Amino acid sequence: MDIQNVVIIGSGCAGHTAALYSARANLKPLILEGHQPGGQLSLTTLVENFPGFPEGIQGPELIENMRKQATRFGANYRLGHITKTDLSKRPFEISVGKETIYTRTLIIASGASARWLGLPNEQALIGHGVSSCATCDGFFFSGKEITVIGGGDSAMEEATFLTRFASKVTLIHRREQFRASKIMLDRARANPKIAFLTDTVVDDVLDVKQNEVTALRLRNAKSGKQWDLPTSAMFLGIGHVPNTQVFEGQLDMDADGYLITQKNVLTKVSGVFACGDVQDRRYRQAITAAGSGCMAALEVEKFLEEQGH
Ligand code: NAP
Repeated sequence: MDIQNVVIIGSGCAGHTAALYSARANLKPLILEGHQPGGQLSLTTLVENFPGFPEGIQGPELIENMRKQATRFGANYRLGHITKTDLSKRPFEISVGKETIYTRTLIIASGASARWLGLPNEQALIGHGVSSCATCDGFFFSGKEITVIGGGDSAMEEATFLTRFASKVTLIHRREQFRASKIMLDRARANPKIAFLTDTVVDDVLDVKQNEVTALRLRNAKSGKQWDLPTSAMFLGIGHVPNTQVFEGQLDMDADGYLITQKNVLTKVSGVFACGDVQDRRYRQAITAAGSGCMAALEVEKFLEEQGH
Protein backbone atom coordinates (compact mmCIF):
# COMPACT_ATOMS: atom_id res chain seq x y z
CA MET A 1 0.00 0.00 0.00
CA ASP A 2 1.30 3.41 -1.02
CA ILE A 3 1.05 5.79 1.94
CA GLN A 4 1.56 9.53 1.62
CA ASN A 5 3.29 11.50 4.37
CA VAL A 6 0.87 14.34 3.99
CA VAL A 7 -2.13 15.09 1.83
CA ILE A 8 -3.29 18.69 1.59
CA ILE A 9 -6.87 19.32 0.56
CA GLY A 10 -7.21 22.63 -1.23
CA SER A 11 -4.93 24.92 -3.20
CA GLY A 12 -5.78 28.38 -1.96
CA CYS A 13 -3.41 30.51 0.04
CA ALA A 14 -3.46 28.15 3.04
CA GLY A 15 -2.97 24.99 0.96
CA HIS A 16 -0.10 26.41 -1.10
CA THR A 17 1.71 27.66 1.99
CA ALA A 18 1.30 24.29 3.73
CA ALA A 19 2.58 22.69 0.49
CA LEU A 20 5.62 24.96 0.38
CA TYR A 21 6.61 24.29 3.97
CA SER A 22 6.03 20.54 3.87
CA ALA A 23 7.82 20.27 0.49
CA ARG A 24 10.81 22.09 1.90
CA ALA A 25 10.75 19.64 4.83
CA ASN A 26 11.14 16.91 2.19
CA LEU A 27 7.71 15.39 2.88
CA LYS A 28 6.66 15.33 -0.80
CA PRO A 29 3.14 16.60 -0.13
CA LEU A 30 0.24 15.61 -2.37
CA ILE A 31 -2.17 18.51 -2.89
CA LEU A 32 -5.69 17.70 -4.01
CA GLU A 33 -7.32 20.56 -5.88
CA GLY A 34 -11.09 20.80 -6.07
CA HIS A 35 -13.44 22.56 -8.44
CA GLN A 36 -11.87 25.95 -7.82
CA PRO A 37 -8.08 25.62 -7.95
CA GLY A 38 -6.37 28.56 -6.34
CA GLY A 39 -9.36 29.27 -4.11
CA GLN A 40 -10.78 32.73 -3.63
CA LEU A 41 -7.63 34.59 -4.65
CA SER A 42 -8.03 33.14 -8.14
CA LEU A 43 -11.37 34.97 -8.39
CA THR A 44 -10.20 38.35 -7.16
CA THR A 45 -8.47 41.29 -8.81
CA LEU A 46 -5.86 43.54 -7.26
CA VAL A 47 -4.67 42.45 -3.81
CA GLU A 48 -3.29 45.48 -2.00
CA ASN A 49 -2.88 44.09 1.50
CA PHE A 50 -0.53 41.14 1.03
CA PRO A 51 2.80 42.36 2.42
CA GLY A 52 5.73 42.43 0.03
CA PHE A 53 3.94 43.93 -2.97
CA PRO A 54 4.07 47.72 -2.60
CA GLU A 55 2.05 48.27 -5.78
CA GLY A 56 -0.33 45.36 -5.07
CA ILE A 57 -0.52 42.16 -7.09
CA GLN A 58 -3.32 40.48 -9.06
CA GLY A 59 -4.87 37.62 -7.04
CA PRO A 60 -4.44 34.97 -9.78
CA GLU A 61 -0.78 35.95 -10.20
CA LEU A 62 -0.14 35.78 -6.47
CA ILE A 63 -1.66 32.31 -6.22
CA GLU A 64 0.20 31.08 -9.32
CA ASN A 65 3.47 32.29 -7.80
CA MET A 66 2.73 30.33 -4.64
CA ARG A 67 2.10 27.18 -6.62
CA LYS A 68 5.33 27.58 -8.61
CA GLN A 69 7.25 28.12 -5.40
CA ALA A 70 5.87 24.96 -3.77
CA THR A 71 6.32 22.93 -6.96
CA ARG A 72 10.00 23.93 -7.12
CA PHE A 73 10.51 22.05 -3.83
CA GLY A 74 8.66 18.91 -4.89
CA ALA A 75 4.99 19.54 -4.07
CA ASN A 76 2.75 17.35 -6.21
CA TYR A 77 -0.58 18.87 -7.38
CA ARG A 78 -3.54 16.83 -8.57
CA LEU A 79 -7.12 17.65 -9.52
CA GLY A 80 -9.67 15.51 -7.72
CA HIS A 81 -13.13 15.73 -6.26
CA ILE A 82 -13.18 14.13 -2.81
CA THR A 83 -16.26 12.02 -2.27
CA LYS A 84 -15.52 10.51 1.15
CA THR A 85 -12.96 10.53 3.95
CA ASP A 86 -12.32 8.09 6.78
CA LEU A 87 -10.42 9.68 9.65
CA SER A 88 -11.31 6.96 12.18
CA LYS A 89 -8.03 5.07 11.72
CA ARG A 90 -4.51 5.68 10.45
CA PRO A 91 -3.49 5.83 7.70
CA PHE A 92 -6.41 8.12 6.91
CA GLU A 93 -8.39 7.29 3.79
CA ILE A 94 -9.46 9.78 1.18
CA SER A 95 -11.71 8.69 -1.67
CA VAL A 96 -11.29 10.48 -4.97
CA GLY A 97 -13.82 8.86 -7.28
CA LYS A 98 -13.03 5.14 -7.23
CA GLU A 99 -9.50 5.61 -5.97
CA THR A 100 -8.50 5.60 -2.29
CA ILE A 101 -5.53 7.66 -1.17
CA TYR A 102 -3.84 6.71 2.13
CA THR A 103 -1.99 9.25 4.21
CA ARG A 104 -0.27 9.49 7.59
CA THR A 105 -1.35 13.09 8.07
CA LEU A 106 -3.96 15.37 6.55
CA ILE A 107 -4.10 19.14 6.17
CA ILE A 108 -7.56 20.46 5.42
CA ALA A 109 -7.35 23.75 3.54
CA SER A 110 -10.56 23.39 1.56
CA GLY A 111 -11.68 26.97 2.16
CA ALA A 112 -15.17 28.27 1.67
CA SER A 113 -17.41 28.69 -1.39
CA ALA A 114 -19.62 31.56 -2.41
CA ARG A 115 -22.98 31.74 -0.67
CA TRP A 116 -26.22 32.03 -2.68
CA LEU A 117 -29.40 33.79 -1.63
CA GLY A 118 -31.62 30.72 -2.12
CA LEU A 119 -34.17 32.52 -4.34
CA PRO A 120 -36.70 30.45 -6.30
CA ASN A 121 -35.13 31.24 -9.70
CA GLU A 122 -31.53 31.88 -8.67
CA GLN A 123 -29.92 28.55 -9.59
CA ALA A 124 -31.72 28.39 -12.95
CA LEU A 125 -30.19 31.72 -13.98
CA ILE A 126 -26.58 31.05 -12.94
CA GLY A 127 -24.49 31.74 -16.00
CA HIS A 128 -27.37 33.75 -17.49
CA GLY A 129 -26.93 36.89 -15.45
CA VAL A 130 -26.63 35.43 -11.94
CA SER A 131 -23.00 35.19 -10.86
CA SER A 132 -20.83 34.92 -7.76
CA CYS A 133 -17.68 35.96 -9.62
CA ALA A 134 -17.31 39.53 -10.83
CA THR A 135 -13.86 38.90 -12.27
CA CYS A 136 -15.11 35.92 -14.26
CA ASP A 137 -18.35 37.37 -15.63
CA GLY A 138 -18.14 41.17 -15.42
CA PHE A 139 -16.99 41.54 -19.00
CA PHE A 140 -20.26 40.09 -20.32
CA PHE A 141 -22.18 43.09 -19.02
CA SER A 142 -20.32 45.88 -20.75
CA GLY A 143 -22.53 48.93 -21.07
CA LYS A 144 -25.35 47.33 -19.05
CA GLU A 145 -27.03 48.24 -15.76
CA ILE A 146 -26.33 45.59 -13.16
CA THR A 147 -26.69 44.86 -9.43
CA VAL A 148 -24.43 43.63 -6.65
CA ILE A 149 -25.83 42.14 -3.44
CA GLY A 150 -24.11 42.45 -0.04
CA GLY A 151 -22.66 44.92 2.41
CA GLY A 152 -19.18 43.56 3.10
CA ASP A 153 -15.78 44.09 1.50
CA SER A 154 -16.51 41.54 -1.23
CA ALA A 155 -19.61 43.44 -2.35
CA MET A 156 -17.71 46.77 -2.35
CA GLU A 157 -14.83 45.25 -4.28
CA GLU A 158 -17.15 43.63 -6.82
CA ALA A 159 -19.23 46.77 -7.30
CA THR A 160 -16.12 48.90 -7.81
CA PHE A 161 -14.56 46.39 -10.20
CA LEU A 162 -17.78 46.02 -12.21
CA THR A 163 -17.93 49.76 -12.97
CA ARG A 164 -15.13 49.06 -15.47
CA PHE A 165 -17.75 47.38 -17.63
CA ALA A 166 -21.23 48.33 -16.50
CA SER A 167 -22.89 51.67 -17.19
CA LYS A 168 -24.39 51.59 -13.69
CA VAL A 169 -24.04 49.33 -10.65
CA THR A 170 -26.74 49.27 -7.98
CA LEU A 171 -25.46 47.88 -4.70
CA ILE A 172 -28.26 46.30 -2.70
CA HIS A 173 -27.86 45.66 1.01
CA ARG A 174 -30.38 44.31 3.50
CA ARG A 175 -29.44 46.76 6.29
CA GLU A 176 -28.46 50.39 6.62
CA GLN A 177 -25.11 49.68 8.29
CA PHE A 178 -22.30 48.17 6.27
CA ARG A 179 -19.95 45.42 7.32
CA ALA A 180 -17.34 46.58 4.81
CA SER A 181 -14.13 48.31 5.94
CA LYS A 182 -14.23 52.10 5.75
CA ILE A 183 -11.68 52.36 2.95
CA MET A 184 -13.57 49.97 0.66
CA LEU A 185 -16.94 51.55 1.45
CA ASP A 186 -15.60 55.08 0.87
CA ARG A 187 -14.11 54.02 -2.46
CA ALA A 188 -17.44 52.58 -3.61
CA ARG A 189 -19.34 55.64 -2.37
CA ALA A 190 -17.02 57.96 -4.26
CA ASN A 191 -17.63 56.08 -7.51
CA PRO A 192 -20.24 57.99 -9.56
CA LYS A 193 -21.37 54.80 -11.32
CA ILE A 194 -22.43 53.09 -8.07
CA ALA A 195 -25.87 53.67 -6.55
CA PHE A 196 -26.73 52.35 -3.07
CA LEU A 197 -30.01 50.73 -2.12
CA THR A 198 -30.12 49.87 1.58
CA ASP A 199 -32.74 48.18 3.77
CA THR A 200 -33.63 46.20 0.68
CA VAL A 201 -33.93 42.44 0.25
CA VAL A 202 -34.14 40.42 -2.94
CA ASP A 203 -37.25 38.23 -3.12
CA ASP A 204 -36.52 36.78 -6.56
CA VAL A 205 -34.64 37.16 -9.82
CA LEU A 206 -36.49 37.29 -13.17
CA ASP A 207 -36.91 36.00 -15.86
CA VAL A 208 -36.45 32.26 -16.25
CA LYS A 209 -38.74 32.14 -19.30
CA GLN A 210 -36.40 34.41 -21.22
CA ASN A 211 -33.37 32.52 -19.87
CA GLU A 212 -31.71 35.75 -18.80
CA VAL A 213 -31.81 38.21 -15.94
CA THR A 214 -34.20 41.06 -16.72
CA ALA A 215 -35.11 42.33 -13.24
CA LEU A 216 -34.89 41.76 -9.49
CA ARG A 217 -38.00 41.56 -7.34
CA LEU A 218 -37.08 43.72 -4.36
CA ARG A 219 -38.71 44.47 -1.02
CA ASN A 220 -38.08 47.27 1.42
CA ALA A 221 -37.15 45.54 4.69
CA LYS A 222 -38.92 48.17 6.78
CA SER A 223 -42.08 49.08 4.82
CA GLY A 224 -42.54 45.71 3.10
CA LYS A 225 -43.16 47.48 -0.22
CA GLN A 226 -42.28 45.29 -3.20
CA TRP A 227 -41.15 46.42 -6.67
CA ASP A 228 -39.20 45.20 -9.70
CA LEU A 229 -35.86 46.77 -10.58
CA PRO A 230 -34.87 46.20 -14.21
CA THR A 231 -31.28 44.89 -14.44
CA SER A 232 -29.12 42.67 -16.63
CA ALA A 233 -27.23 40.86 -13.88
CA MET A 234 -27.12 40.01 -10.20
CA PHE A 235 -23.66 39.53 -8.69
CA LEU A 236 -23.56 37.96 -5.22
CA GLY A 237 -21.09 39.27 -2.66
CA ILE A 238 -22.73 37.86 0.47
CA GLY A 239 -20.00 35.76 1.98
CA HIS A 240 -19.08 32.11 1.92
CA VAL A 241 -19.89 28.62 3.18
CA PRO A 242 -17.05 26.39 4.42
CA ASN A 243 -16.28 23.26 2.37
CA THR A 244 -16.53 20.67 5.12
CA GLN A 245 -19.30 18.30 4.01
CA VAL A 246 -16.96 15.28 3.69
CA PHE A 247 -15.88 15.66 7.35
CA GLU A 248 -19.38 15.76 8.84
CA GLY A 249 -19.62 13.57 11.93
CA GLN A 250 -15.84 13.12 12.04
CA LEU A 251 -14.55 16.56 13.07
CA ASP A 252 -15.99 19.25 15.32
CA MET A 253 -17.78 22.04 13.47
CA ASP A 254 -19.68 25.15 14.52
CA ALA A 255 -23.30 25.77 13.58
CA ASP A 256 -22.31 27.10 10.13
CA GLY A 257 -19.99 24.18 9.33
CA TYR A 258 -16.65 25.86 10.03
CA LEU A 259 -14.10 23.43 11.52
CA ILE A 260 -13.29 24.04 15.16
CA THR A 261 -9.57 23.97 15.89
CA GLN A 262 -7.46 24.15 19.05
CA LYS A 263 -4.04 25.82 19.23
CA ASN A 264 -4.72 27.39 15.82
CA VAL A 265 -4.71 24.33 13.54
CA LEU A 266 -5.27 21.15 15.59
CA THR A 267 -8.51 19.22 15.05
CA LYS A 268 -9.81 16.63 17.51
CA VAL A 269 -8.23 13.84 15.40
CA SER A 270 -4.47 13.75 15.92
CA GLY A 271 -2.68 13.90 12.61
CA VAL A 272 -5.47 15.96 11.02
CA PHE A 273 -4.92 19.71 10.83
CA ALA A 274 -7.05 22.51 9.42
CA CYS A 275 -5.99 25.93 8.17
CA GLY A 276 -7.30 28.91 6.25
CA ASP A 277 -10.91 29.93 5.73
CA VAL A 278 -12.30 26.46 6.44
CA GLN A 279 -11.54 27.08 10.13
CA ASP A 280 -11.38 30.86 10.31
CA ARG A 281 -14.51 32.96 10.27
CA ARG A 282 -12.91 35.88 12.05
CA TYR A 283 -9.95 37.12 10.00
CA ARG A 284 -10.39 35.42 6.59
CA GLN A 285 -7.48 37.21 4.94
CA ALA A 286 -4.97 35.85 2.43
CA ILE A 287 -2.13 36.57 4.81
CA THR A 288 -3.79 34.90 7.80
CA ALA A 289 -4.67 31.87 5.67
CA ALA A 290 -1.03 31.64 4.55
CA GLY A 291 0.09 31.94 8.17
CA SER A 292 -2.13 29.12 9.35
CA GLY A 293 -1.04 26.97 6.38
CA CYS A 294 2.50 27.39 7.61
CA MET A 295 1.46 26.38 11.14
CA ALA A 296 -0.31 23.25 9.85
CA ALA A 297 2.77 22.16 7.91
CA LEU A 298 5.01 22.67 10.96
CA GLU A 299 2.57 20.61 13.06
CA VAL A 300 2.66 17.83 10.45
CA GLU A 301 6.45 17.75 10.61
CA LYS A 302 6.36 17.56 14.40
CA PHE A 303 3.68 14.88 14.37
CA LEU A 304 5.51 12.66 11.86
CA GLU A 305 8.73 13.04 13.79
CA GLU A 306 6.98 11.97 17.01
CA GLN A 307 5.53 8.98 15.18
CA GLY A 308 9.05 8.01 14.10
CA HIS A 309 8.66 8.74 10.38
P1 NAP B 1 -18.84 39.31 4.94
O1 NAP B 1 -17.91 40.29 5.53
O2 NAP B 1 -19.34 38.17 5.75
O3 NAP B 1 -20.09 40.13 4.39
C1 NAP B 1 -21.20 39.49 3.82
C2 NAP B 1 -22.26 40.53 3.52
O4 NAP B 1 -23.34 39.89 2.85
C3 NAP B 1 -22.83 41.19 4.77
O5 NAP B 1 -23.03 42.55 4.56
C4 NAP B 1 -24.15 40.45 4.97
O6 NAP B 1 -25.16 41.26 5.50
C5 NAP B 1 -24.54 40.10 3.56
N1 NAP B 1 -25.34 38.88 3.53
C6 NAP B 1 -25.02 37.64 3.98
N2 NAP B 1 -26.01 36.76 3.77
C7 NAP B 1 -27.00 37.46 3.16
C8 NAP B 1 -28.27 37.11 2.70
N3 NAP B 1 -28.75 35.86 2.78
N4 NAP B 1 -29.03 38.08 2.12
C9 NAP B 1 -28.55 39.34 1.99
N5 NAP B 1 -27.34 39.73 2.42
C10 NAP B 1 -26.57 38.79 3.00
O7 NAP B 1 -18.23 38.61 3.64
P2 NAP B 1 -17.23 39.21 2.54
O8 NAP B 1 -17.61 40.56 2.12
O9 NAP B 1 -17.14 38.13 1.52
O10 NAP B 1 -15.84 39.32 3.29
C11 NAP B 1 -15.25 38.18 3.93
C12 NAP B 1 -13.87 38.53 4.48
O11 NAP B 1 -12.95 38.77 3.41
C13 NAP B 1 -13.86 39.80 5.34
O12 NAP B 1 -12.95 39.62 6.39
C14 NAP B 1 -13.37 40.86 4.39
O13 NAP B 1 -12.70 41.92 5.05
C15 NAP B 1 -12.40 40.06 3.51
N6 NAP B 1 -12.27 40.68 2.16
C16 NAP B 1 -11.27 41.59 1.98
C17 NAP B 1 -11.11 42.20 0.74
C18 NAP B 1 -10.00 43.19 0.55
O14 NAP B 1 -9.48 43.71 1.54
N7 NAP B 1 -9.57 43.46 -0.66
C19 NAP B 1 -11.98 41.91 -0.31
C20 NAP B 1 -13.01 40.99 -0.09
C21 NAP B 1 -13.14 40.39 1.16
P3 NAP B 1 -25.13 41.69 7.04
O15 NAP B 1 -24.07 42.74 7.14
O16 NAP B 1 -26.51 42.22 7.27
O17 NAP B 1 -24.83 40.45 7.83
